[in-house]
Amino acid sequence: MKALEEKIRREGKVINEDILKVGSFLNQQIDVGFLMEMGREAAGLFEGEGVTKVLTVEASGIAFAVAIAAAMGVPAIFAKKHETSNLSGDQLTAKVYSFTHEQYYDIVVPRDYISPGDVVLLADDFLARGQALNGLRSIVAAAGARCAGAVVEVEKSFQSGGEILRNDGLRIEALAKVRRLDPVTKEIEFD
Ligand code: 5GP
Repeated sequence: MKALEEKIRREGKVINEDILKVGSFLNQQIDVGFLMEMGREAAGLFEGEGVTKVLTVEASGIAFAVAIAAAMGVPAIFAKKHETSNLSGDQLTAKVYSFTHEQYYDIVVPRDYISPGDVVLLADDFLARGQALNGLRSIVAAAGARCAGAVVEVEKSFQSGGEILRNDGLRIEALAKVRRLDPVTKEIEFD
């Protein structure tokens, strides 16, 4: 999505060679008109797949998931993050490692929010090492539902998640793919 690349080029901040900040328009202050445009774009990519729910993880995936769900006319669900597991059987859970925070946490969705008949589209703001999407995918599997694939606003293609998950059979679409972040010139290169 060219408009997203241009916005990232204009407003994105290269923190280091691994981390890009897009808080000014995407995941802290939100350009709502543009968010809804991204939602329509993402929904169009999965048109005809029979998606019944959009699933993300709190907090930064929620806005994008809501925009996609609005375009598709289906509910959006977000998994909550818990540092420790103290969970009952009526919850669907998965363990996720955060490289940015260097810690494991559980992501949790009430079991009755996803049924075996559901077709679930995963959504997130960033794809890096694929931990978040992989955890969401196992929640869908534990519910006995079908996963239609995943869509992210930004995939950092120099990190391993996209390749690992695609090789594992997950369809992943990215609205923008960042190939390289230059920590010195602060340049952002796209695929
Ligand atoms: P993964 O689970 O694929 O390793 O990382 C994806 C998650 O980490 C996303 O939910 C996102 O919130 C966060 N993340 C990873 N890389 C970045 C980044 O460069 N910038 C921002 N803002 N978040 C990131």
